[in-house]
Amino acid sequence: MDNKNLLEIRGLKTYFFTKYGEVPAVDGVDITVPKGKIVGIVGESGCGKSVTAMSIMHLVQPPGRVIEGQILLDGEDLVPKSIKEMNKIRGKRVSMIFQEPMTSLNPVYTVGKQVSEAILLHQEVSREEAKAKTIDIFRKVGIPEADKRYNSYPHQLSGGLRQRVMIGMAMVCDPELLIADEPTTALDVTIEAQILHLMRRLQRERGTSVIMITHNLGVVAELCDEVYVMYAGKVMEHANVFELFENPQHPYTHGLLNSIPDTSGTKDRLYTIRGMVPNLLKLPEGCRFCPRCDKAMKICTMREPEMHTTTEGHEVRCFLYDKEVMKNG
Ligand code: SF4
Repeated sequence: MDNKNLLEIRGLKTYFFTKYGEVPAVDGVDITVPKGKIVGIVGESGCGKSVTAMSIMHLVQPPGRVIEGQILLDGEDLVPKSIKEMNKIRGKRVSMIFQEPMTSLNPVYTVGKQVSEAILLHQEVSREEAKAKTIDIFRKVGIPEADKRYNSYPHQLSGGLRQRVMIGMAMVCDPELLIADEPTTALDVTIEAQILHLMRRLQRERGTSVIMITHNLGVVAELCDEVYVMYAGKVMEHANVFELFENPQHPYTHGLLNSIPDTSGTKDRLYTIRGMVPNLLKLPEGCRFCPRCDKAMKICTMREPEMHTTTEGHEVRCFLYDKEVMKNG
């Protein structure tokens, strides 16, 4: 493992074994998170981005499980870790922020107590020190009157303040890796901008590596250094953020970028990618994007494309970039 990287996911497969059949929610995914960088995972609902995150955290519930692959955190594979071992890693070395803080905050405890308990779990400090650290992190994440808010219950805070509490809770133990799963989707745009700015500032100050899971390419452009585009359980394209926006290569990435609403008034109609995300129980033969792809060729219905490196650091899973296939027509 390259020591510039904090996390290397290699050949990860997370399947759900339902009564209707096997659902390959994550189907052979490779993702690298360099130290101190923000890596975006983008795609539509059901593409496997959240299941990838849940797999890292060991939060996939039956009938789902990781069936293959490695999740190397600084060279140490998390996949075979026991619940006890993961409890020491979660919150301390790897933290997660969810889309809706109400699902992660306990409504019957004050937010201050909940953050203090997280500190006491992972750090050898007294209750008073944990309280002082909690108020300090509340200030750092921009919660006004942090000492008073310590005693607030989650329902007494706005959505934006609850998300700040969650970011504070995730950052308070200085994790090496922060996974943010659609952290601003439930917020209005002005609060979203503030939260993204806050995350960027904290990440820079602390050198944290971040995985940002989103369906929003605006968030990717704003925040990320590297981007992975996922579709139907597979990574379809990977590049640094400038390259991806300047030179998108996969037809699905083109579709996503063309679907961004245009405010300049030069487009009459909003582009949509035709068709639907495939049912993972009945994936099409060959390329998973084939039924929706305007560039599909005969071979696309017969074989799954491999990942091809087109320029340094830019990879794309599409036959259009397979020299052999294109040479032979
Ligand atoms: Fe389209 Fe074929 Fe490329 Fe799939 S492999 S994205 S169907 S051109």
